[in-house]
Amino acid sequence: MNPQGSGRFAPSPTGDLHLGNLRTAILASAWARATGRRCVLRVEDLDRVRAGSTERQLEQLAQLGLHYDGEVLIQTSRHAAHLAALDTLANKGHLFECFCSRKDIREAASAPHTPPGHYPGTCIGLTEDERAQKREEFARQGRQPALRFRAPVDTWEIFDELHGNYTGPVDHVVLRRNDGAIAYNLAVVVDDAFQGVDQVTRGDDLLSQAPTQACLGSALGLPQPIYVHVPLALNEKGERLAKRDGAVTLPQLTELGVEIPQIIGAIAQSLGLGEQVGAARSLEELLDVLDYETLKRMPLEPWVFSGI
Ligand code: GLU
Repeated sequence: MNPQGSGRFAPSPTGDLHLGNLRTAILASAWARATGRRCVLRVEDLDRVRAGSTERQLEQLAQLGLHYDGEVLIQTSRHAAHLAALDTLANKGHLFECFCSRKDIREAASAPHTPPGHYPGTCIGLTEDERAQKREEFARQGRQPALRFRAPVDTWEIFDELHGNYTGPVDHVVLRRNDGAIAYNLAVVVDDAFQGVDQVTRGDDLLSQAPTQACLGSALGLPQPIYVHVPLALNEKGERLAKRDGAVTLPQLTELGVEIPQIIGAIAQSLGLGEQVGAARSLEELLDVLDYETLKRMPLEPWVFSGI
């Protein structure tokens, strides 16, 4: 039990939340509650924002009965703190300028020893002269380089409640893009720490990013959270659940006459945790039966959704 800490849910306001997102939101609250933590909400609105989406998502979470501790944190309000974190990293020698285009990265990424999807390291090895030359070239074109994480190690270990000790490669991720925007990987680490989050519950598509994020947090002198990477919801073709899969959001489902208890019931059954959990029809009932031992037994297979 950690009475001081917080779990969190951190949606991106890119559209209405679908059942997979709602299930993750419920699990974030369940894990926080089962371990004596608060649960906070953060709107990750740094990019790809759809107008009106933040308000709609907050309303949908409330409709399900989810409540959060403290104020909702809007990520774009944290710009000054994100810039300060970049300064800290620069002062500690944990940043490098990256002049690569997407094409450069694609071509170099086939180099040996580069984990799939990771930055191949092209600009780390530039000499001071080469860097100065590139800077000048960029300045002439009115462009600025991206800033990437100069990771001090190749791999990092995290602890995940469902996946155990997990060691993965650390990537030299972009922290400030070449258009000047703060990148997700920096903001997520800085803002989790700011909100007192010591338990990060989210979809398991982000498990492979966790070692990089934890290593970045350590470079910033921040405490390392525990992670809970929960399985995603997929459609029947095995693809990530999306709007095109029919009625998968609360507004779509309620328009069809599906009521909240049915939706909670479908999510409760999807957890694969037996009859008692599967029988829950309200959020309170569900959270009451999802204690720590029960949550630990959660299967890691994705939820294949085929309609309610
Ligand atoms: N905002 C991200 C999303 O909605 C989640 C990021 C995270 O939980 O770390 O996909």
